[in-house]
Parts: sequence; C-alpha cells; structure tokens
Amino acid sequence: MKNAIIVSKDAHWRTVMEGTLLARGWQVAAVAELSAGDWPDAEHVQAIMVDAASIHGEEVSEWLKSGGSKLTIPLVMAPDLSHAEGLAAELEVADAEEKKSSPAVVRFWGVRGSIPSPGPDTAFYGGNTSCVELSADGQIIIIDAGSGIRPLGMNLMGRAAATKQPLEMSLLISHTHWDHIQGLPFFVPAYIPTNKLHVFGYSAVRHHLADILAMQMEPTYFPVSMDDMPSHPDVHEVDDHFEIGPVKAIAFFTNHPGRCAGFRFETSVGSVAYVSDNEINHEGQATHLPRETADHLMQRMIDTLHGVRILVHDAQYTRAEYQTKIGWGHSAMEDVVEVAGAAGVEHLVLFHHDPMRSDADINRMVRDARAYAVEKGFSLRIDAAREGMEIYL
Ligand SMILES: [Zn+2]
Ligand SMILES: [Zn+2]
Repeated sequence: MKNAIIVSKDAHWRTVMEGTLLARGWQVAAVAELSAGDWPDAEHVQAIMVDAASIHGEEVSEWLKSGGSKLTIPLVMAPDLSHAEGLAAELEVADAEEKKSSPAVVRFWGVRGSIPSPGPDTAFYGGNTSCVELSADGQIIIIDAGSGIRPLGMNLMGRAAATKQPLEMSLLISHTHWDHIQGLPFFVPAYIPTNKLHVFGYSAVRHHLADILAMQMEPTYFPVSMDDMPSHPDVHEVDDHFEIGPVKAIAFFTNHPGRCAGFRFETSVGSVAYVSDNEINHEGQATHLPRETADHLMQRMIDTLHGVRILVHDAQYTRAEYQTKIGWGHSAMEDVVEVAGAAGVEHLVLFHHDPMRSDADINRMVRDARAYAVEKGFSLRIDAAREGMEIYL
C-alpha cells in the first residue's frame, strides 16, 4: 500500500485530493496543517502533498527548517484542484496507457441510488442515478437508465459523429424503480432514426417491461411517447443466459423488493458483474423475503459471481446504518466485502451510493472497506464508483 499525507486548510480540497489518490490505490492521511517537528517516516509515507492556496510558502519553509535535513519524502506543492489528477499521476508510474488498447472497458455515468443528488457535497463522486457502460468486443452494453444515461447519450452522439456510423446499443434494465429508468426519455441516441436500441430485462411482477417503460412516457409524465421515439427501441424479456454479440451474459434474481436482475458478463478479456440493487442479509436478519428464499438467492448469487474479475455492487449503507434499513433491499458495505471476498472477486466497486452520502463520506467508506478487507484476510482491490471512472479489463 502506498501512503500519502495531504495538507490543506480547505476541507473541500482535502476531500477531492483524497478521493483522487484513493482511486489510484493510495492510502491517505488528510490534515489541516503541518505540525512543527512532526516528521513522517519514509518507510511508511511515500509522498506529502500540500495545497499551495491555503498553506503559505513561509509556513512550508518554517516547517522544513524545523526538521533540518530530515525530510526524505517528496513534497509536492499542489497549485489547485484542477491539477489534482495530474499531480496524483506524477506520484507514480502510469500504467493506464497500455491498458487503453484493451477491447473492454467499464465506464461509470451514474453511481447514485434512489434519487439524483447534485450539489457541492456530491460533485466529486457525482449525483446521477445508476448507469454503467460496458463497451466490449465491439458491443455497446448499457446497464440501467438512471439519469446518468443522459450524459452517456451525449458522449455516444460524439462517438457516432466521429465514426460517421449509426449506433447499435443494448440496454439492460436491472429493474424498473425510478432511479434505474428515469433517464431513458432523455437518451438522445434513441431519437435518431438510424440508431438501434435493444432493451433487455426481466418482466416485473405486475407488468411487462415494455409496458412499464412506455408508462413513464405517457403524456401525463412526458411529451413524447416511447412508440414515437424515432429509433423504435425493441424490448426483450431475458432468460437466465443470453448473448450480446460475442459477450455472454447471465441474469439472476437479486434480493430486492419487486423483481430485480443482477448480471454477469464474459468478454474476450475478462468478466464483469453488476449487482445493483441487492440486499445481502448475511447475519440472518429478516428481509421482505422468506428466510429460505433469501438464503437460496444468496447462495445462487455467490456461485454465479465466483471468480468474477470486476464486481459492481450496491453498497448503499454501512453495517451500522443497515440495522434500521433491513428489508429495504440494499446492502451494507461490510457484507459486500465479505461476499466479494468469498466469491474470489479481484476488484470490487462500491456502487449505488446513498443520496445522503457526501464525497467525504464516500472517501471514508473506501478507507473503511479496504481496512475491513485486510482484517478479513481478503486480497481484494476496492474502489468507490465515481462518474467518469473507467476500468479497462
Ligand atoms: Zn436503485
Ligand atoms: Zn430498486
């Protein structure tokens, strides 16, 4: 583990810099000032990053003088937050370039659960609801149509303009709660007649998937009906196993009110699973399902997730918060870490962040999740999903 100390009097600066370094696998201690005579040990700390706007140069030189020549760690004076990613990249040897030739990438466009939650406290991780893109083996696979599908649509329009080719896209809907379908009416590529949008999902308990998607575009709610979308999306109800071009997919039920699907994908270069929304009731708590059914679903899910490379999983709560949310259909972070560890997952991405959770809270959750994995003896990479994040397989 690489360790950094970041120093700023500005709490927002500390949150953004910490999140940026956490996303690159660093462990971070964030402090508001340089304490005289407090010298980090080079064996345990690999970098110090100081906010040049809130910590004045004289303060830094005073601090340096107080330690004589004891500082053997690189000290970076960071000019401002617009360079946070560049500075973080400079602290290590970048490996992203070669990976970008991979035929498969997971991109995050909406990472929030329940309701969009924009604002200054959520700007770093993002406030859009669930939408993840898996571009693999020539296929554009979109998982869920929360409000994050709107910026994805704009991005896809740009890609289509660059290649001068119509878009063929597969949209998988985990379930039809609002935070997973509300962006669809604002998905611009569906309004281009030459594009093709194939929608897949389970039928809900009371209605077929096609009917529910059409209902949210009835005139009371939206001025254009789904039938009038010029690309004429076709809607398919999926079986447990299906294929999207060369990508093999498995759908399975999660533990969530109504009917909700999780998905596992096998691409030519590795596997990805998306499990949002899902309640792991690890300690035998009551849920909205009979105990036996919940246990059966859980075992089936662990078997299905076995050995998956990247797992994107609902982590809406901490275990402490979960005690008052039992039966709501979402998981506690600690339970997610345990399931990922038991299933031999390589990279766990915490997803479906609670709308109440600030950027600083999510940083804390990443730190706690990594510490919990170490405590349990799992060698598992853990990150929090963030809008704009890309993972190349
Ligand atoms: Zn949700
Ligand atoms: Zn839901």
